[in-house]
Amino acid sequence: LVSRQWKTAGTVIDLGDGVTISERDFTVMAGPCSIESEEQIERIVAELVKQNVKIMRGGVYKPRSSPYSFRGLGIDGLKLFYQHCKANGIKIITEVMQVSQIEEMLPYVDIFQVGARNTQNFNLLDALGEVDKPVMIKRGISGSIDELLQSAEYVFSAGNEKLLLCERGIRTFENAYRNTFDINAIPILKEKSHLPVIADPSHGIGIRKHVDKITLAALAAGADGAIIEMHYSPEKAFSDGQQNLNFAEFEKLMNRLSVLKQAI
Ligand code: PEP
Ligand code: MN
Repeated sequence: LVSRQWKTAGTVIDLGDGVTISERDFTVMAGPCSIESEEQIERIVAELVKQNVKIMRGGVYKPRSSPYSFRGLGIDGLKLFYQHCKANGIKIITEVMQVSQIEEMLPYVDIFQVGARNTQNFNLLDALGEVDKPVMIKRGISGSIDELLQSAEYVFSAGNEKLLLCERGIRTFENAYRNTFDINAIPILKEKSHLPVIADPSHGIGIRKHVDKITLAALAAGADGAIIEMHYSPEKAFSDGQQNLNFAEFEKLMNRLSVLKQAI
């Protein structure tokens, strides 16, 4: 069902209020790794409004390698996140980690993100198949392209056709960077599936000064959008500060993306 043989035209994700994600639009979603405070939300929303970015990312349920790391503000953080986004016409993408969270999150979420650690949580995928909200599925930490497509097939076959695929890098023997961003996956996924393909260069390389180059490469490779971590003060971020762009870096990237978009 997620294959190009089944449907040749690219799927368009309509988030309402004129916000859509469609083939070759290169929609940018941006925001912090984690939602941290009301002040943080306000400052980042203001920057997104300035850059005309319509979708904000930010985790309130965080899958962390260590149980002692910051694990997110939970549903109260999501409500705050929603208030400020709603008031500014911005849509929300945030991670759902388990089935029991879906119902409480539903009114406040525009796109449910399935994280790399949950790509093959088949009960979660089944449950998201019954939800009337878009779902972005990230490629598993050591997941193949086919496994990502099969995970999408779970959600689609359970009834939810509003799906996005995300390449966020995979684990390889290389340790000079956080993950190996698989640029090859982009044209392959585009060829195999009608679903929008979103690049996550932040987790894909994990090194702030190189996030811009990987984002531009993803656009050139045919991605339909990117999800980018940014923070006014990356050094102070509660999670993933090493890969968050600051506002000046983000603005520069947005400008370069618009130049490259014209050129290709
Ligand atoms: C995230 O988006 O902050 C995240 C935890 O990503 P991933 O699931 O790709 O590691
Ligand atoms: Mn992160």
